[in-house]
Amino acid sequence: MPVAALHRPGRADSLPALRHIPKFSEVTRAMSAALSLDDWKTRAETLSFRSQAFINGRYVDSASGKTFECVNPATGRVLTKVAAGDKEDVDRAAKAARAAFEKGRWSRMAPAQRKKRLQKFADLIDKHATELALLETLDMGKPIRDSSAIDIPLSAGCIRWYGEAIDKIYDEVAPTGPETVAMIRREPVGVVGAVVPWNFPLLMASWKIGPVLAAGNSLIVKPAEQSPLTVIRIAELAAEADIPEGVFNVVPGFGETAGQAIGRHMDIDGVTFTGSGEVGKLFLRYSGESNMKRVSLECGGKTPNIVLADAPDLDAAATAAAWGIFFNQGEVCNAGSRLIVEAPVKDAILEKVMEVGKKLQPGDPLDPKTRMGAIVDETQMQRILGYIEHGKKEGAKLRMGGGRVKPANANGYFVEPTVFDEVDNKMKIAQEEIFGPVLSAITVKTPEEAVKVGNDTIYGLAAAVWTRDISKAFKISRELRAGVVWVNSFDAGDITTPFGGFKQSGFGRDKSLHALEKYSELKTVWINVGK
Ligand code: NAP
Ligand code: MG
Repeated sequence: MPVAALHRPGRADSLPALRHIPKFSEVTRAMSAALSLDDWKTRAETLSFRSQAFINGRYVDSASGKTFECVNPATGRVLTKVAAGDKEDVDRAAKAARAAFEKGRWSRMAPAQRKKRLQKFADLIDKHATELALLETLDMGKPIRDSSAIDIPLSAGCIRWYGEAIDKIYDEVAPTGPETVAMIRREPVGVVGAVVPWNFPLLMASWKIGPVLAAGNSLIVKPAEQSPLTVIRIAELAAEADIPEGVFNVVPGFGETAGQAIGRHMDIDGVTFTGSGEVGKLFLRYSGESNMKRVSLECGGKTPNIVLADAPDLDAAATAAAWGIFFNQGEVCNAGSRLIVEAPVKDAILEKVMEVGKKLQPGDPLDPKTRMGAIVDETQMQRILGYIEHGKKEGAKLRMGGGRVKPANANGYFVEPTVFDEVDNKMKIAQEEIFGPVLSAITVKTPEEAVKVGNDTIYGLAAAVWTRDISKAFKISRELRAGVVWVNSFDAGDITTPFGGFKQSGFGRDKSLHALEKYSELKTVWINVGK
């Protein structure tokens, strides 16, 4: 997701300025930034967890009474036990969501009213930003610095942005003849299920929550099993913001149970999914085998970051390349995992990437100085280490990192920033999404070869090109098959631009006004007005 614009080239050690974040969260963020490691630890000890499902405006246990353990990946310790939702819970949530929708409690509320409540919801997220940032870091392992400065403020900002937008969007009147009035109206789809991943738990959920609710739908969110706590917690903030009961529901649980139940439910009208391609394809099948619900998929990537010999600033390109793969422990769908470099500048670029990488050694996520935290769980860590071993066996040259580390006072799952040189694009480490801090550098001889290699992937989420030649930049940006192409930048963007992929990175776009298209039906009303 485009947040590394926050990590501007050449400023690896300073917390960069955030854009598009209202003043209120500036205050909260400043408060968070002022807290020391000891302050965060003390807060963590006294933190309480919401751990039930939220259905029809109330926290409830799962129908089966079952729970699952929610683990802090920095320590391996259990934080709390969370309700394990399944078919029955999804069904209860779907009934509540349908009832709210049919009664028009939200779906027929004036957009200006929905706006006010979404703004209040966003304000409440900001008000509780410190607590939510702590929950996110404990649950998922990302640095507290990032959850305070990025995840929580951007989540609130996203919900606020859609709230602000919704009373400024007009329907259409078609240019028919004088005897008719044909209106083209946007109506909410109905009940939408959002199934989201663990890498930006609240932010990826917010990219759904904002436009789904703004468009007047009822919503059921299933957070990832590794990181459900922030989404569960904000459910009561939605209620406090007077979002009516049944409109915003959360069913935590496993993918194969709760996730599948959402996908196959006969009375859920749409699913918006972010996660792996493998599970994305399952949602297409669920839809086909149930009620043909509309599905939108934001799946993985293997982003080519192309640095040509005429890049305007090699230092900037290399610093952005390092952040582009090491930010969020590399657990980023558009991570710049393939660095495709023209031969004359390869050594200079790699040296600088490694210089930045060395400063980003993993540390205790609760320490405000830490820039790389823990990998989300042991399974994911083993997966990353497995890819690293595979890369070595395939003949790629390991230039930096490559192993598990255990920072002081943090016994969990940490992987070093890792750089492979002399990678062939056919190797597994260049083709498969590793979702960890592992960079594959591929050397090419010409810009044409760079584009060919860049496009030689099943994915098409994002791409970047660094060149000072405007014609080359324009031509290459057209040739790269990806939902976003950055020129002389990496991972830049804000809520105003759409985000999503070509090819097996999915379809449908999050962010921007275009996201509303996924959650609205077009209805033509053809009125015969006579002569
Ligand atoms: P994942 O395994 O596909 O899981 C995503 C969500 O789907 C989770 O809530 C998961 O639940 C659920 N799920 C798993 N198996 C399911 C099944 N059989 N039926 C229904 N739902 C199921 O992905 P992840 O490991 O959480 O996240 C990493 C992936 O997300 C990467 O591929 C990454 O590229 C992608 N991602 C994409 C974007 C984007 O915008 N394009 C953004 C972020 C991440 P459980 O957690 O309970 O298994
Ligand atoms: Mg967890």
